[in-house]
Amino acid sequence: MTKAEIISGTETAKEVRAAVAGGVAALKEAKNVTPGLAVVLVGADPASEVYVKNKARQTVEVGMNSYEHRLDETVSEVTLLTLIDQLNRDETVHGILVQLPLPAHIDDHKVINAILPEKDVDGFHAINAGRLATGQSALVACTPVGCVILAKKAKSDLSGLDAVVIGRSNIVGKPVAQLLLQENCTVTIAHSRSKNLPDIVRRADLVVAAAGQKEMVKGDWIKPGAIVIDVGIHRITKENGKSGLVGDVAFDEAAAIAGAITPVPGGVGPMTIACLLRNTLLACYRANGLADPVI
Ligand code: NAD
Repeated sequence: MTKAEIISGTETAKEVRAAVAGGVAALKEAKNVTPGLAVVLVGADPASEVYVKNKARQTVEVGMNSYEHRLDETVSEVTLLTLIDQLNRDETVHGILVQLPLPAHIDDHKVINAILPEKDVDGFHAINAGRLATGQSALVACTPVGCVILAKKAKSDLSGLDAVVIGRSNIVGKPVAQLLLQENCTVTIAHSRSKNLPDIVRRADLVVAAAGQKEMVKGDWIKPGAIVIDVGIHRITKENGKSGLVGDVAFDEAAAIAGAITPVPGGVGPMTIACLLRNTLLACYRANGLADPVI
């Protein structure tokens, strides 16, 4: 029995995209500039193809220019770095995203750190991670920003909450933890070596589950009334043979105890691209010497 408020990422992402579209229109009016997002895809991984198509469609829908660069999976690291250098110099490109994962012969860190930090709309560059950690203006990783926007839908002031982030990856766990610290939460980061994970989670007023483990967080781990943000995405085959998605949280059990919870699908997932567009708009405003728009 669902008791919790369901926090809709689908609806919230629509609101973010509408705000971004407003910012794009205002920028065209004020400076006659259109934000441009360049996406680089290496190889033909089917999941990456889907992400890249969705990104391009939504970029155009908010009024931005979308540029796609497709490279063969045998491309050399030098050729990829040369493309990034060109995009760094291109004034019509305000955001650059290199779709991960990259083939094994290419060094991810080297490629990401070759992007100008001010065009690094994925927020993965070491400078942006460092600026986030030291409380300076940064481009922040998209999924973590989406998680915090959703948590604030349930409770606008997160200050003083005990927050537990499960997962310590550079792209989700660590930046979510940094953002929650900025929101004045008391943050615990749990990971694969943490002991007594259920007991750690039971203390949490706010749980962000980003362990990449299907339905690992059980209902009896959840403190009554807690906010639960589920980042996990796992494809499953249902009893009727159709495929579906589940998260890192056992949704039905957790929703009977939590105060508010994000569903999978329709929770964190749609927020990631919306926040990518938001970052591209921020990058363009900053490149034009304007103060950040309120979005
Ligand atoms: P990752 O594999 O890089 O990191 C997983 C983290 O979870 C690690 O730090 C690990 O220590 C921790 N972990 C693993 N098993 C654990 C366990 N049993 N107990 C506690 N901690 C454990 O994954 P990631 O890239 O951070 O992604 C996490 C999940 O979020 C995945 O399911 C991924 O598909 C999903 N994801 C969703 C979006 C989105 O847009 N919604 C974006 C990125 C990632």
